[in-house]
Amino acid sequence: MRLNCATCNAYVNADKIVDYSKDINDNNYLDSSGKIIPTFKKYIFLKCPECKSPFIVSETLENESWLNNVVRETEILYPAPNKTLDASLSTSIKVAFDEALRCYQSQAYTACVIMCRKTIEGICKEYNIENGNLKSKIQSMKDKGIIDHQLFEWADALRLSGNDAAHDLDATFTEEDAGDIINFTYAIIEYIFVYKKRFEVFIQRKKIKK
Ligand SMILES: [Zn+2]
Repeated sequence: MRLNCATCNAYVNADKIVDYSKDINDNNYLDSSGKIIPTFKKYIFLKCPECKSPFIVSETLENESWLNNVVRETEILYPAPNKTLDASLSTSIKVAFDEALRCYQSQAYTACVIMCRKTIEGICKEYNIENGNLKSKIQSMKDKGIIDHQLFEWADALRLSGNDAAHDLDATFTEEDAGDIINFTYAIIEYIFVYKKRFEVFIQRKKIKK
């Protein structure tokens, strides 16, 4: 398995030491007829072949048939990434943001900016805002009160940087630029899916007490 070793500061072919699998029976994974697809989680313990640092990775696998397991999601549990996303987030947001982090770690800063833009697209999709271009989608998020004016400005700046990264051959992004863009993207995710939701629950709890 290719993993980014922070000690070696490089991608390495990590050696598997042992793994352990456990069935998971939540209803996250349904087939087109609404039937639960048997899924299980595999925990894999590996080590870096160079510096011997340990890794723990989890894979969520779908058992499409007894012969065919499909990896649905891969998560690095150890070493803990410095930006962890809430478990309730949709897979498309997580996958896009994780890829942005991986691009950043491997110094692919322009690709990182493109993936941050894609993460914002994923957030719009989560709220079923799918019509029009990203500019109008971000505007809809503001109009619907999902983001306030400040976050609207951040999201719009991310969109513009993402456009430059994708379409302007001369556009270059430094480590500092990409780092800021990752931080803004992370802050938007945290605001919408963690703090805003937590605040709503808090207000609800206060209402019930009264
Ligand atoms: Zn290493």
